[in-house]
Amino acid sequence: MHPAIDPQQALRQIEANMQKARPSQAPLPRLLAVSKGQSATAIRALARLGQRHFGENYVQEAVAKMRDLVDLPLIWHLIGPLQSNKCALAAQCFDWLASVDREKLVPLLSRHRPTNLPPLNVLVQVRVDEEPNKSGCAPEAAAALCAAIQAHDNLRLRGLMGIPQPHPEIGARRASFRRLHDLYRSLQARHPGMDTLSMGMSEDYEAAIAEGATEVRIGTALFGPRAPKAAV
Ligand SMILES: *Cc1c(COP(=O)(O)O)cnc(C)c1O
Repeated sequence: MHPAIDPQQALRQIEANMQKARPSQAPLPRLLAVSKGQSATAIRALARLGQRHFGENYVQEAVAKMRDLVDLPLIWHLIGPLQSNKCALAAQCFDWLASVDREKLVPLLSRHRPTNLPPLNVLVQVRVDEEPNKSGCAPEAAAALCAAIQAHDNLRLRGLMGIPQPHPEIGARRASFRRLHDLYRSLQARHPGMDTLSMGMSEDYEAAIAEGATEVRIGTALFGPRAPKAAV
């Protein structure tokens, strides 16, 4: 067994590291607590410390936790691969979708976003390294996808999300983060409402922040090791 992690200590440590990693003058990035494989009780403990934004990978698993935690003012992000047969439920339950990577999903999300909810916040997931089997659109396809999202009033294009190859050398990951930041800046010129660049996880969030991340997604460094999929 791994020793239990003290959520307060972990949160303060990560916040201190984030402070140190950011370029001077840059605002502090947002911390998205990645709670896949973690219990509703663990989420509640972090919420008590002031954490508001939580990221989940699997729609069903997330919906069960949302039910347990309805009494809390949490903001839910879907960060895992999005299948078209999950678009309806995802558009109904989440505040943010971080993994939109093909145009086919866009009209589905728009059609299923309930009219009584604010527009759905959307990030385009970009494949930053050449891995054709991984999720994320090709960098060259991002502009068209952004334009497709922008065309729907009930979808709000907020930015980009990317996951570099888990290269053992942090320098290689930094180069991937830099490429994603460059793409983000070029798209921002056309879409001034874009304000979110989501990159960096437990192993590399400091490098991502140094390269301009406005959001980092952290699971294990915050909660400790997670249960395997479907165990929660
Ligand atoms: C699981 C996951 C994370 C968090 O990973 P850790 O290494 O536990 O911090 C971040 N982003 C995505 C897309 C994930 O699937």
